[in-house]
Amino acid sequence: MNISENKVIDESIQGQALVLDTVKTGGKKLFLESYGCQMNFSDSEIVASILIDKGYTTTQNFEEADVIFVNTCAIREGAESKVRNRLNDFKRVKAKNPKALVGVLGCMAERLKHQFLEQEKLVDIVVGPDAYRDLPNLLDQAEEGHRAINVILSKEETYADLTPVRLGSNGVTAFISITRGCDNMCSFCVVPFTRGRERSRDPESIINEAKDLFARGYREVTLLGQNVDSYLYSGGGLKKETLTEEQKANSVTFAQLLEKVALIHPDLRVRFSTSHPKDMNDEVLHTMAKHENICNNIHLPVQSGNSRVLEMMNRGYTREWYMSRINAIRNILPDCGISTDIITGFCSETEEEHLETLSLMEFVQYDFAYMFMYSERPKTLAERKYEDNVPEPVKKRRLQEVVDLQRKLSGIRTEKGLGKVHRVLAEGFSKKSDDMLMGRNSQNSVVVFPKENYKKGDYVNVMVTECTSSTLIGKVIGKEETGQ
Ligand code: SF4
Repeated sequence: MNISENKVIDESIQGQALVLDTVKTGGKKLFLESYGCQMNFSDSEIVASILIDKGYTTTQNFEEADVIFVNTCAIREGAESKVRNRLNDFKRVKAKNPKALVGVLGCMAERLKHQFLEQEKLVDIVVGPDAYRDLPNLLDQAEEGHRAINVILSKEETYADLTPVRLGSNGVTAFISITRGCDNMCSFCVVPFTRGRERSRDPESIINEAKDLFARGYREVTLLGQNVDSYLYSGGGLKKETLTEEQKANSVTFAQLLEKVALIHPDLRVRFSTSHPKDMNDEVLHTMAKHENICNNIHLPVQSGNSRVLEMMNRGYTREWYMSRINAIRNILPDCGISTDIITGFCSETEEEHLETLSLMEFVQYDFAYMFMYSERPKTLAERKYEDNVPEPVKKRRLQEVVDLQRKLSGIRTEKGLGKVHRVLAEGFSKKSDDMLMGRNSQNSVVVFPKENYKKGDYVNVMVTECTSSTLIGKVIGKEETGQ
């Protein structure tokens, strides 16, 4: 849940039908709807790449689709019921076109495979996040009337050799996944169960993908992982926990990868998400300070401001450690934009402990936050060990207090941009008018300015003269001539 233009939004239930920029004629039609985090959207681009190789094209209209895939999120109960409703919508298609195939991909696949396939017979295919290479084979099985399922999690799979097909893209910014899975076992989180153990992708394949995107006119890449700070590539599929000190020394760390991507071209902006407070080191911060094209914004989920609750969440750091990381950011990158994730009402959280979350938000002065009330998830450590005993109305009230405080903090942070010149990468038209372009500054704040002769992909310097609670508005005072 986050605040955009003062509206509270929950991405996990926001489905998006993804289509190719250029629709190919002929070939079977694929309808691909994606939910949840950016990792899932990036996976949908891998799925599209595999099927387009097999002659499929994409459609926005599921009524005319031959194959309907829903890439699902299992992070909260709401996300799951939303997908179930959609699957019932798709039943209509099968009634009219019995040959049409419906499939569930992503994080719900592993958890609800039998329910979807056997009990509710809602789908023909169920595929987990590490088994997308098997899709063509599974589609053949389903076409022959067999139930097709593959939810095996892998310790190696990174899809490094596959070039994602950019779906619904603005042609300027793109995501590149650098790790898959997660080794942290935060007690409230399903990701380690639905996406498996963490593995880092070969840095050469990441750099080649970034170079290819730059050559195709993209001007910004975001390096993506559940915990980018624990990226460590040692080659040869060696497991992180088995590495000798010498092997570790010869491995590529996240800070080194960040520098390699930044050195591709000064006009290629680099962002990354998501960082982890227990692993984020000063080497990363100094690398950001060294390269102007590495953007000055860090997404550093805190989840709670109280050390006892953080320990129950198995986050691996205390309130004091987190604040020391914030101090390090403020010292090394003074104007860095910082955003976070917060959960209210976790098992046994007291009122005093909730107030510590509010006081920590005041201390950090976040630009932006994703805010949720605790939603117990099956199979997680918290579900097995702790009672979900904070009453719903209390969870809701605490969430509202966090949302209200963040709305105030976002306003303060946005106002700090007034009267300053911001280097903005134009991404496209503003939501409100085709006479205005929108882009973002290094801190990830949205900036809107008159279009004049500028176009998406341009770097422009904008003098900000006014703002809303989350958007900066200004006038271009000069276009940056880029090296290209
Ligand atoms: S770091 Fe924690 S919250 Fe994030 S994906 Fe891993 S287990 Fe989940």
